[in-house]
Amino acid sequence: MSASLRHDLLDIFVGRATRRYGLSNVNQLQHALQAATLAEADGASPATVLASLLHDIGHMIHGLGDNPAGRGVDDVHEELGARWLAQHFGPEVSEPVRLHVAAKRYLCAVESDYFGKLASDSVRSLQLQGGLMSANEVEAFQRHPQQAEAVRLRRYDEAAKDPRATTPDFDHFLRHIEACRIQ
Ligand code: FE
Repeated sequence: MSASLRHDLLDIFVGRATRRYGLSNVNQLQHALQAATLAEADGASPATVLASLLHDIGHMIHGLGDNPAGRGVDDVHEELGARWLAQHFGPEVSEPVRLHVAAKRYLCAVESDYFGKLASDSVRSLQLQGGLMSANEVEAFQRHPQQAEAVRLRRYDEAAKDPRATTPDFDHFLRHIEACRIQ
């Protein structure tokens, strides 16, 4: 594994991720570890486990301070994060990350009970992110090659807000890095 990539990820996730995750009672690092743990337990591919671990990296590199959604600002973290990840990993990691917000808007549109299951921070950011998808947006989303993995990631994301969950540490998941790196 590249020592510098591991160092950068640890700096971002362990060094900066003690800020709270939105309005919930877990911090960014716990949220990342829980999402990856859920992906692993669900038998997801190494790329999706890694994407789940790193899906909110954009929240930690935007320089907009804590909880911009609380101030009515969309940090567009899915685009920022996907661009960062695409420098190091293939599309099977970066694209589900790019699409994980779209996947929330998608699930709200196609599953009648999904909106009701969202945490309050997800509801608040949903409005900033454009609300439910239109029928045209749903169709376009379904044509994306990574849409199924983005939906999986999105379900792990939403469930990864348990203040009592225990997880393996960050390095446990970094063993997937080599398999997913751009050569
Ligand atoms: Fe998240």
